[in-house]
Amino acid sequence: MKQFIDAKIKLTIWYTMILMIVSIFLSGTYYLRTVNMLEGQYRQIEMRFSEKGVPPKSFPKHVPRKLQLLEDDFFIISNYLKKQLFLINGLVFLLGATASYFLAGKTLIPIQESLEKQKRFIADASHELRTPLTALKTSLEVSLLDKKLNLSARKVLQDNLKDINSLTSLTENLLSLARVDDNNFQLSFQKLELKNIIEKAINHITPLAKKKNIDIKVSGLNNQLLQGNENALVEVMMIVLDNAIKYSSPKTIIKVSVEKKGKNLLLKIKDQGIGISKDNLPFIFDRFYRAESSRTKQTKTGYGLGLSVAQKIMNQHSGQILVESKVNRGSIFTLVF
Ligand code: ADP
Repeated sequence: MKQFIDAKIKLTIWYTMILMIVSIFLSGTYYLRTVNMLEGQYRQIEMRFSEKGVPPKSFPKHVPRKLQLLEDDFFIISNYLKKQLFLINGLVFLLGATASYFLAGKTLIPIQESLEKQKRFIADASHELRTPLTALKTSLEVSLLDKKLNLSARKVLQDNLKDINSLTSLTENLLSLARVDDNNFQLSFQKLELKNIIEKAINHITPLAKKKNIDIKVSGLNNQLLQGNENALVEVMMIVLDNAIKYSSPKTIIKVSVEKKGKNLLLKIKDQGIGISKDNLPFIFDRFYRAESSRTKQTKTGYGLGLSVAQKIMNQHSGQILVESKVNRGSIFTLVF
């Protein structure tokens, strides 16, 4: 929604600017032509008064007394014209800006509608894909239990299962993105214990950490309370923890710590993984962005959507997600509440 308000304001500024350039150009031309015409008339009159009957090239500094009246009239008229034109341009600006704002809104409506349709399509498609993917996953897992399965068939099924898992996480990420993007969807907030959120996320993620022999250590928990949506915050924690595991070597440690800084509560997740280069750091919250590293590509189980979902959820909580990272040293993701 914010991007449409920004676009509307930018369009309004452009429309008004074009209108004002045209209006100022036309007013200037009109003013110069009218002044020229008046000057011509003044010279004609002056010529009639002069003895030689030849008009002077420019306005005389010391005009004869009988022409003084005419010269004063000339300046009064040109000043009056200037004031009128200023007033007209001011009105054009006010009316033009209002009309431009209205027109900008009208111009953006079809774009906004098609974007909404696109979002709805993504949400519906992801939702429809969920059931067959779950069914496929279950049947593959059951087939893999068969002890009579030969090695090559087992390998094929295991690869298929990996692909299904990756597709499932893509559809889940797309569904989350559609949900957090939906302007009509409001998260319900309540008082939460930070401890519960951290515990829930760690419980979900522990099997994954165990597979890589990664230890998750928690410190600083002290019955801290916050306002928020439990499921959404657990999702944020899981996204960050999942990345910390995915981009870390086996037998490393992930540290989760909580600290209070002024009015804010900081939840830090620190890993000893591959880190993110300075070039990639500004883009990791963009949709479908995956850092171009050969090691990241090796662990190709993501689609670059997790962090953008996490950031959206944090924004909905009036919070922030920050990152510091050093290549080959690790990353620290900080959730600021
Ligand atoms: P993905 O599903 O690809 O992990 P994300 O949106 O969660 O998508 O992350 C975007 C990119 O940020 C990742 O592809 C990865 O390059 C980088 N990244 C995120 N977390 C970490 C981390 N803890 N360590 C190293 N790189 C990370």
